[in-house]
Amino acid sequence: MEKINMTTPLVEMDGDEMTRILWQMIKDELLLPYIDLKTEYYDLGLKYRNETNDQVTIDSAEATKKYGVAVKCATITPNAARMTEYDLKEMWKSPNGTIRAALDGTVFRTPIVVKGIEPCVKNWEKPITLARHAYGDVYKNTEIKVDGPGKAELVFTAADGTETRELIHDFTGAGIIQGIHNTDKSIASFAKSCFNYALDTKQDLWFATKDTISKKYDHNFKDIFQEIFDAEYKEKFDAAGIEYFYTLIDDAVARVMKAKGGFIWACKNYDGDVMSDMVSSAFGSLAMMTSVLVSPSGVYEYEAAHGTVQRHYYKHLAGEETSTNSVATIFAWTGALRKRGELDKLPELMEFADKLEKATISTIESGRMTKDLALITSLENVTILNSENFIKEIRKTFDTL
Ligand code: NAP
Ligand code: MG
Repeated sequence: MEKINMTTPLVEMDGDEMTRILWQMIKDELLLPYIDLKTEYYDLGLKYRNETNDQVTIDSAEATKKYGVAVKCATITPNAARMTEYDLKEMWKSPNGTIRAALDGTVFRTPIVVKGIEPCVKNWEKPITLARHAYGDVYKNTEIKVDGPGKAELVFTAADGTETRELIHDFTGAGIIQGIHNTDKSIASFAKSCFNYALDTKQDLWFATKDTISKKYDHNFKDIFQEIFDAEYKEKFDAAGIEYFYTLIDDAVARVMKAKGGFIWACKNYDGDVMSDMVSSAFGSLAMMTSVLVSPSGVYEYEAAHGTVQRHYYKHLAGEETSTNSVATIFAWTGALRKRGELDKLPELMEFADKLEKATISTIESGRMTKDLALITSLENVTILNSENFIKEIRKTFDTL
């Protein structure tokens, strides 16, 4: 059989631990036999990040800007324990944080829906994609613990020295104060990434804040979204038959619980942090969740939403059998290959991605799955497969489609 050709390389970011093992298995079993795979390889495994003083992460982000599409394996974010384990020169920053900062992107997370793994919310028929703003607010806060009486003020000193003051509170006793900020630039990037992603995936976009209470801060988010939508996206949305819908955050939460799904829910940083954990756990499993970073300039980085599955890796190292779910990592590859196919006008590559996703889903729906899914499925007569055999079964299914 002739292999499918590619014209532009994908930026391939390899990673750590169990997901690094799965990465190689996926390439060997599911990609290389069918595609003349072109990638520009960056090893983001912690060992090599340490050797290069993390330069490899920066280089991989630059390559992503150049080529437009990357696929990333899960990576270790070092903590104190990892400093000793890997004999690190420094506690290197989270690669995801570095890449996000370089691409100025928004992360979209979507559950992979299969029959037999039903969401807890009965009426959710289609996936709900969560888009979380990744800059500012309470994540870049300044806080003071007040011990006794005194006056708290908000002061802004303009570049020309002019001061604007607002009274926060006249304390008569102990209390707390918090200062937060955001920038119009970051909010605009967030808005554009959301509008582009909605058009890309032909889904409605919901956005919500607490603008009735926060008449300047949250209202600014609402206004920026609306201005950009009216100026640049309204006609495109009309043509695609999709809708941009703004409402209050409490109204949004109530509506989401009653909705059928099939839309994108854009959230401010804190709302997105909290709501993405709720939505993903209600849909079943982190191992069944895709994640893509989309920059406002239209650059894409695909990955799995879960981490490096450290516990399974240590079992693997000890020579024990593992049953680690590779679905989200497979979908990172198919997402990237489909996008590459779309940008380079290679319909065969796009069809390959569709077919591999279909093969993955039907393998699970036929009752062949990893242990994490076997524990939550409503299917009967399930076969629990090890990490490698699950991927091999997907290949068998693929060859019958
Ligand atoms: P994790 O790797 O997501 O795993 C946590 C637990 O979730 C696992 O022990 C396992 O449960 C279950 N799990 C996650 N993915 C699974 C899969 N594909 N198949 C089966 N079970 C799965 O999170 P972590 O243990 O907190 O973090 C490990 C490392 O990953 C850390 O060094 C962290 O920095 C890194 N991390 C990276 C990313 C990223 O690169 N995007 C994201 C998050 C964390 P059981 O043990 O019960 O089987
Ligand atoms: Mg969280």
